[in-house]
Amino acid sequence: MILDCAIIGGGPAGLTAGLYTTRGGLENVVMFEKGMPGGQITQSSEIENYPGVTGEISGMDLMMPWPEQCQKFGLKHEMVEVKRISKDGDIFKIHKEDGSISQAHSVIVCTGSSPRRAGFAGEDELLGKGVSTCATCDGFFYKGKEVAVIGGGDTALEEALYLAKICSKVYLIHRRDSFRAAPNTVKRVENSENIELILNTTPEEVYGDNMGVVGIKVKNSDGEIRDIKAPGVFVFVGNDVNNQTLIQEDGSFLCDVSKQGDIIVDISMKTSVEGLFAAGDMRIAAPKQVVSAAGDGAVAALQAISYVDEKLN
Ligand SMILES: Cc1cc2nc3c(=O)[nH]c(=O)nc-3n(C[C@H](O)[C@H](O)[C@H](O)COP(=O)(O)OP(=O)(O)OC[C@H]3O[C@@H](n4cnc5c(N)ncnc54)[C@H](O)[C@@H]3O)c2cc1C
Repeated sequence: MILDCAIIGGGPAGLTAGLYTTRGGLENVVMFEKGMPGGQITQSSEIENYPGVTGEISGMDLMMPWPEQCQKFGLKHEMVEVKRISKDGDIFKIHKEDGSISQAHSVIVCTGSSPRRAGFAGEDELLGKGVSTCATCDGFFYKGKEVAVIGGGDTALEEALYLAKICSKVYLIHRRDSFRAAPNTVKRVENSENIELILNTTPEEVYGDNMGVVGIKVKNSDGEIRDIKAPGVFVFVGNDVNNQTLIQEDGSFLCDVSKQGDIIVDISMKTSVEGLFAAGDMRIAAPKQVVSAAGDGAVAALQAISYVDEKLN
């Protein structure tokens, strides 16, 4: 059987694509998700910026009803890791970890992205409990409080400036003596009254209590340790797009990608390959938010429906 649509990844983008494709009339739609559906937001202990959701809610609780809603309209979920997506003529092949292959007329790839870890003690354990990789998501939790930012590139500096508008003070910790960011951004950071630059310094350990992060210990190039009391620690040391499924046997990508590996799409979430769509955090210029990932999933699904309708009828 050839699927009408294969959805790769079951985060907010993939689940929304699943809802819209099935409810919009596509019949054989399978979402291939290697773990439990929900995506990376399930790691967050609190999400405050999903529209219409008031009160305290964890990422896990936010995502809990999404798969059930999709199943109601016929979305099938196969719990398997997809190794590669290829195209043979106008049929896509989904190569799975168990060696089997599924075929599909259209594919929506929504495998997200993974913020890189800096690798200091406590970072993983306190992720989502004071350690964050997203100022738009979590900055507001620290309104009027002090926070630490780790990193020295454009993202770290832009996010430090964003946080400086909300927080009383931002400690910007960078392992080198100068920044790799655009000169104008560096100037704005240097001129900011509530950003303290801590250069030639690396994080040693973030520590907390049962309420979350309490502070972070950092070490400078002379070996001196400084203990910074800050309930929020933001890590911006890079981001990897989960684009591995699009890499072909010869090492090329199935569709066009940016220098950073983001999937290039137009405003309809169409990639450079007919019938292949990308949605959510993995697409170029993604705001990396649940609401935008869900929006992308809906756009991609509506396009996939048109594509399959035109192809089969
Ligand atoms: C700790 C934390 C807090 C956050 N807080 C907020 C917040 O407050 N507000 C907000 O809007 N956003 C927040 N975000 C960002 C938000 O989670 C992401 O923007 C959103 O989840 C992106 O959705 P997505 O569907 O594109 O990708 P993801 O959520 O990353 O989902 C991708 C899915 O694809 C699956 N997958 C990957 N590769 C394969 C494969 N080869 N085969 C099968 N399945 C695969 C993964 O298992 C995953 O489930 C937060 C993120 C984190 C980590």
